[in-house]
Amino acid sequence: MTWQDDAGRDLVRSFGPRMQQFVRGEGAYLWDADGKRYLDFLAGIAVTSLGHAHPVFVEAISQQAATLAHVSNYFATPPQLRLAARLKRLAGTGETGRVYFGNSGAEANEAAFKLARLHGGAERPRILALTDAFHGRTMGTLALTGKASMQEPFLPMTPGVEFLETSVAALESAIDDRVAALIVEPIKGEAGVIDLPQGYLRAARELTERHGALLIVDEIQTGAGRTGAWFAFQHAGITPDAITVAKGIGGGFPIGALITFGEASELFYPGTHGSTFGGNALGTAVADAVLAEIERADLLANAIERGAQLRAAIDGLDSPIVDGCRGRGLLIGVALRHPVAKAVVAAAQEHGLIINAPNDATIRLVPALNIGDVEVDEFAQLFQASLRTVEDSLLLDAATEGADA
Ligand SMILES: *Cc1c(COP(=O)(O)O)cnc(C)c1O
Repeated sequence: MTWQDDAGRDLVRSFGPRMQQFVRGEGAYLWDADGKRYLDFLAGIAVTSLGHAHPVFVEAISQQAATLAHVSNYFATPPQLRLAARLKRLAGTGETGRVYFGNSGAEANEAAFKLARLHGGAERPRILALTDAFHGRTMGTLALTGKASMQEPFLPMTPGVEFLETSVAALESAIDDRVAALIVEPIKGEAGVIDLPQGYLRAARELTERHGALLIVDEIQTGAGRTGAWFAFQHAGITPDAITVAKGIGGGFPIGALITFGEASELFYPGTHGSTFGGNALGTAVADAVLAEIERADLLANAIERGAQLRAAIDGLDSPIVDGCRGRGLLIGVALRHPVAKAVVAAAQEHGLIINAPNDATIRLVPALNIGDVEVDEFAQLFQASLRTVEDSLLLDAATEGADA
């Protein structure tokens, strides 16, 4: 029996076959059961922001597990209060901000959805979201996720959500005083690292404010320093009503949060939302330590610097199929000229590089925020070799087709 047999028999089929089984990680590297080493430029989908087995992560989880793990939300704990205060400071909410803790991105967005309903009431039944944005897989967040193919097997959806094309003009014509909220991903990660049009967030802030609607920014992939700011909305110099975070804030511990600003902080009242695990001492201690380390080591600056270095390396590659980069900081989408992204991912794995393909013509790079020169150089070599492998097989296919004709 191989691990593939076990996985095929025992694990839910909602994911495709697992590509590899990993047994250990350290820094930017992973190892499989045969002892083969891989450079990890996926970081568990922008999650392990300090890399694998970082001493700060290990220490925080061990210490807190040996002190106090969980008491329920009938009670407060010091790490929970520390993390709430830190998130408010990093997000710039000022005094009036509040934090709701959940255990995932989807839970953070579920809380945001409920916030929007509380704000909207009967007068504002409309919620606006963007086509191709991704907000999660639970029934509520799936209703916010503008992908018909994902929704179709699970219809009917929670009503009230309308999808807009991502342009200021589309938002201008859709918004009115019956809109409770607009939810936006500052860079559409799952769609293929697609940047918003220039000025979109500023215009969205202005229009939502004018019509009394909440602006909710989904920072689940872009947050925790990944784009070179703590949260991507900060590049635009706006203040949203709420943001959602998860992925990178826990460095590998499952945790998510809804952070509210100003009056939006007064919408939830006792009994309107909750979670057994959300914000427990163990998870909040880890996330607080991870964020403290991102601050201490100035990994926001590193994200900008290494991001620029990576882009330069990619632009310098000798490949006819690479068509440039999208994204910001260490959230990079490499555009391909042919729909061969899955083949590039498979070739990269053979060469000892872990990357992923959010769509057929994009490679997503979301390495740990603390990678250095060495990892960037090694990436460039391995990526070049992976592209070569795919280019050679494309040439081979073309030649075979020629011979068949
Ligand atoms: C990953 C992601 C989610 C969902 O987070 P989960 O932890 O998988 O539930 C929501 N929004 C965005 C932008 C994401 O990248």
